[in-house]
Amino acid sequence: LSEDLQQLLELPAETPDGVRIPLYTNAGLLSDLNHSLAKGAEGIGLYRTEFPFMVRNSFPNEEEQFTLYRQVLEAFHPRPVTLRTLDIGGDKALTYFPVQEENPYLGWRGIRISLDHPEIFLTQIRAMLRANAGLGNLNLLLPMISRVEDLDEALVLITRACHELQEQDDAIIMPRLGAMIEVPAAVYQADELARRISFLCVGSNDLTQYLLAVDRNNERVAKWFDALHPAVIRALIQVVAAGRRHGRPVSVCGEAAGDPAVALLLLGLGVESLSLSAGDLLRIKWVIRSFSRQRGEELVSQALALEQASAIRAMLIRNLVEAG
Ligand code: PEP
Ligand code: MG
Repeated sequence: LSEDLQQLLELPAETPDGVRIPLYTNAGLLSDLNHSLAKGAEGIGLYRTEFPFMVRNSFPNEEEQFTLYRQVLEAFHPRPVTLRTLDIGGDKALTYFPVQEENPYLGWRGIRISLDHPEIFLTQIRAMLRANAGLGNLNLLLPMISRVEDLDEALVLITRACHELQEQDDAIIMPRLGAMIEVPAAVYQADELARRISFLCVGSNDLTQYLLAVDRNNERVAKWFDALHPAVIRALIQVVAAGRRHGRPVSVCGEAAGDPAVALLLLGLGVESLSLSAGDLLRIKWVIRSFSRQRGEELVSQALALEQASAIRAMLIRNLVEAG
């Protein structure tokens, strides 16, 4: 099978009825980039900037971050690269910035830390904007958005950084901005968020965790964690609809996008692109090339009539097996 998949390398991720679903990869370290390029990634859909912060002993300064982001943007240019601002907290800790909390997943995490520490955020934003000068393939993504204020405050800071930099260098441009939809509140305010930015990116790991109240890393409750839970599917439907209403593309970038059964459903839901681990890319390309969007839509209807994630998964797997 892996030999067969290898033959897909040069072929586009396109359904039999002609719908292109760009396949991007998730990355966090420079070593992920070669792997992504080797698998034919059409860009980076999620660059987790906290990873390079985690392997250091102190905050990287603006120059160090600039050098790193520039390398990532150049490696894929002209293909898009989505750099996500720092998402520490939760399960991602920095030794040099200790945060002790009883309930870290519900605590000081992602954009919350960035807004409470504008000097950390602005350093990162400046490095990203400078790295994008003359290239223009940067998408900037904000994690853990749960209120419109989070976006509004971040936008003020980003716009200010952009204007300041433009005074010295007219190659600095405002990048496309996106919000992670990974907190249930963001699903219900997807319209308000979509109005403020250019794209929406569903983080299925956290969205599943927070919708189902299941720690994404706790083995004991792993059977309760399932991105095919009907509640997660209904949330995705709402986000896609909000994206459509505002002409904003919706992508999915959690691990579930690399699961063939979930990817098949996402195709039917009308998600515009997927971002996944490089190792899953060719398998998911096979799914996209094997099922029409229309077939995917029929499978979504079937899924909506089922009440259990296990039944939905079984139905999708049956279809995958029949397709080969
Ligand atoms: C997610 O939550 O699905 C996601 C992509 O972000 P992370 O896994 O980095 O929290
Ligand atoms: Mg997340």
